[in-house]
Amino acid sequence: MVESSTLNAMASINFQNDWIVDSGCGHHLTGDESKFSKLQPHIGNEAMVTADNTVHKVENEGTVVINDGGNDSITLNNVFHVPGMKKNLFSVPNAVDAGSSVLFGPHDVKFLLNIKFIKADVMHTGRRVKDTFVLSTSSSYIDKVSCNENASLWHARLGHVNFDKLKVMVRKNLVKGLPSLTTFPSKEVCEGCQFGKSHRLPFGISQSRSKAPLECIHGDLFGPTRTPSFSGLRYMLILVDDFSRFTWVYCIKQKSDAFSKFQEFKEIVEGVLGLKIKRLRTDNGGEFISDEFFFFLSSVWDKKRVVLCRNPPAKWHRRKEDQTSHGDM
Ligand SMILES: [Zn+2]
Repeated sequence: MVESSTLNAMASINFQNDWIVDSGCGHHLTGDESKFSKLQPHIGNEAMVTADNTVHKVENEGTVVINDGGNDSITLNNVFHVPGMKKNLFSVPNAVDAGSSVLFGPHDVKFLLNIKFIKADVMHTGRRVKDTFVLSTSSSYIDKVSCNENASLWHARLGHVNFDKLKVMVRKNLVKGLPSLTTFPSKEVCEGCQFGKSHRLPFGISQSRSKAPLECIHGDLFGPTRTPSFSGLRYMLILVDDFSRFTWVYCIKQKSDAFSKFQEFKEIVEGVLGLKIKRLRTDNGGEFISDEFFFFLSSVWDKKRVVLCRNPPAKWHRRKEDQTSHGDM
């Protein structure tokens, strides 16, 4: 409904001849040179930037007389001629600077001179900031919601500022709109602050490094991914050789497939390199500590060769090169 009425209104505006009354425009503007009764080159470097970021330079300036066809006419001085402008803009700030008042009503807009008396109830008064008229909301909004405000709320609003600093802000009235808070929590623990400030210690630099391939294999399982592959695979088994950092990535359907893939991997790499995997290092993920996996490992290895660590070192994820991938993702 709104859209169609807006479209109808747009359709009835003649952009060639009509002037759009714009309260936010700092100058009368037109791209049509023929509208001027007087015209002279503009001195200065002003330019207009339109909504599509095109820059149009002000070339000339002069006088335009707007006539509605009857006896009423209005003379606009210092109108900018901006070649390329598709619309004619009438600047309300320019009009009031020239001494007229502009009255917008539900169906029209009137330009008034020599106002002697207006009888009306003033609902609200905005103010002019340079070439823009604004209604300030700072007082009304704050008044409406301030009854629910407390120090914790303002602590959060101001980026979880320290409560001592907040007290100083209130005492010295440093922040516009900040109410005169009187009570401050003494030992309140802010949940947001706890989350925001918590962090884990960095991993130390590893001192141990394998001296030959397959001396130590790091293993981890990633998944399930939100979107499965075309063939329904949602997990990745990642195995990294500690010596060469060579990485194998197996795409698998479910966690339990990790065991058979590891068997496959072990058979291939040991066969190709003619060496035995001496150690498997992994986190406590269920995929690696299943009974089946352990039974397999203990049957071929001594259990000490399986190292379960709580957190995989960050260095596993550092090298992306030298990777090879197996599977049909
Ligand atoms: Zn906080």
